[in-house]
Amino acid sequence: MSRLRRWGGRGALAAIAAIVVLVVPATSANAQFLGGAFPHTAGNWLNLGYTTQGSYIAQQQAAASSWHVTPTRLIVFQEPIANSEEDFYGFAYTGTWWGLATLHPCNTCTYTWADLQLNTNTLGSESNFIRQKVAAHEFGHGIGLAHVVGGTVNSIMRQGTLTYNLPQTHDINNTNTLYP
Ligand SMILES: [Zn+2]
Repeated sequence: MSRLRRWGGRGALAAIAAIVVLVVPATSANAQFLGGAFPHTAGNWLNLGYTTQGSYIAQQQAAASSWHVTPTRLIVFQEPIANSEEDFYGFAYTGTWWGLATLHPCNTCTYTWADLQLNTNTLGSESNFIRQKVAAHEFGHGIGLAHVVGGTVNSIMRQGTLTYNLPQTHDINNTNTLYP
């Protein structure tokens, strides 16, 4: 959203464009991470308790389990909301989005928990396969992964309809980079 800021006049736009050309190569290495992470010590397991609420409970559970079985440090299990790190909400929200992840206290901080919203207004007409894809995608955001854009590598962090709904090798590798 911050990229949608309004700038004053063409001169400013040209200047921004020139800066972006210089900045992109330096930042591309971190483009697939939001910039924050849960507290983690290399070599330790990362315990991620999760909760389910509202619609698509089976898809929420399947998505969480799909991150649990990856060859990563993630241990994903259901837990009371008072202690959980990943909280799913399947409800009717205003907006055209399928899913939305909100990291607390912020995307680039040390996380305390994540809200993972699934929008029944837009997912109501989609298959359970896609609902699980969205849930797994939001869970990926919920541990600090950003979108994968361009290229051809398979990733659950791509937006939109995919032919798979589980974390892919690329996602597992990124998770292991973030939580070694
Ligand atoms: Zn996303």
